[in-house]
Amino acid sequence: MKLHEYQAKRIFGQYGVPVPEGEVATTPEEAREIAQRIGGPVVVKAQVLVGGRGKAGGVKLAKTPEEAEEKARQILGMDIKGLTVKKVLIDPAADIQDEIYLGMIIDRARQRVVMMASAEGGVEIEEVAATNPDAIKKVAVDPFLGMKGYQAIGMASALGLDKSQFRPFTKIATGLYNAFIGSDAELAEINPLVVQGDGSLLAVDGKMVVDDNGLFRHPDLAEKRDLDEEDPYETKAREADLSYIKLDGEIGCMVNGAGLAMATMDIVKFYGGSPANFLDIGGGADAEKVATALEIILSDPHVKAVLVNIFGGITRCDEVAKGLLKAIDEVKPDVPFVIRLVGTNEEEGRALMAEANFPTARTLAEAAQMAVAAAKGEL
Ligand code: GDP
Ligand code: MN
Repeated sequence: MKLHEYQAKRIFGQYGVPVPEGEVATTPEEAREIAQRIGGPVVVKAQVLVGGRGKAGGVKLAKTPEEAEEKARQILGMDIKGLTVKKVLIDPAADIQDEIYLGMIIDRARQRVVMMASAEGGVEIEEVAATNPDAIKKVAVDPFLGMKGYQAIGMASALGLDKSQFRPFTKIATGLYNAFIGSDAELAEINPLVVQGDGSLLAVDGKMVVDDNGLFRHPDLAEKRDLDEEDPYETKAREADLSYIKLDGEIGCMVNGAGLAMATMDIVKFYGGSPANFLDIGGGADAEKVATALEIILSDPHVKAVLVNIFGGITRCDEVAKGLLKAIDEVKPDVPFVIRLVGTNEEEGRALMAEANFPTARTLAEAAQMAVAAAKGEL
């Protein structure tokens, strides 16, 4: 789950990271009042759960409260990458000399949280990562020791900071790491961490993604979920207890079990196709759940064929077949289906599909090849 900038920065602040003392407005008038209270120049920032707001015109400086109101009027209601801006953050404007990137991510290969930083932070960091990866420094943190002072100081030095900034940087790096661990995050990022004219450091932007699987430990974070900003089908999937992740391909996959779902995606790729999603309907899925899953898959206009791969254990193949037929009857999809049902009640399930004139495959290889052909219109 992604948090808004203002939420992420408040959390960082609780862990000792210096952040601007801003407030959130939902109307231009409110933005003016906040700017009035702050006094001096402010920055008006769109609160939407996507990056690149600056480039999209969603971050604007304002010298006076009147100007803040005007900028808020421009930004509220703006469409940024398909999301409508409903809130703006009004922060005191920072005096930016330099922009540093600082992030904590999980490095699965190293099985560590890795601190990444670059002296070339700011809105072009993706470009830096692509063209000049050496400009991004990485330090892995031992989970039992946590962020050590020497690691943060080493990073501060690599970033070319002045000695007087080593301590403040260490406090920020440690705070960000602790915020990451304390929230069960997948990502905690400050971009930019700015060096101000007086040499002080300030976290001007904040981004945090928390692990959905850790949310049960953080009811305070769980309630921050912004349903307005979530893909409606991801919301639907979560409510139906389906694990669904949308991807860019053209073959919709409906599978039970995360491992089988990954194997299915791999084999689709192997035969020259590309999966449109990861979808695990879980164990013991009934007809209704299958119908919801199908509706979610078909909501993606890029889907050219659907591959259903079910291993019947607790899940019964005839239940899945009934669910599929019910869903197909309701949704009336215009894409071809390839169905593989094996395990508990597979004969019954296959018979139901055959009656309705749907091809079933025996092996996964066969099913994947059929799905790839179907997506190309060759079946
Ligand atoms: P993003 O584009 O969504 O990452 O939004 P950011 O909050 O990172 O803002 C984008 C850029 O706007 C930053 O990299 C800064 O260059 C600039 N910016 C943001 N806040 C301020 C501010 O308080 N003062 C000044 N001068 N520039 C700012
Ligand atoms: Mn940013």
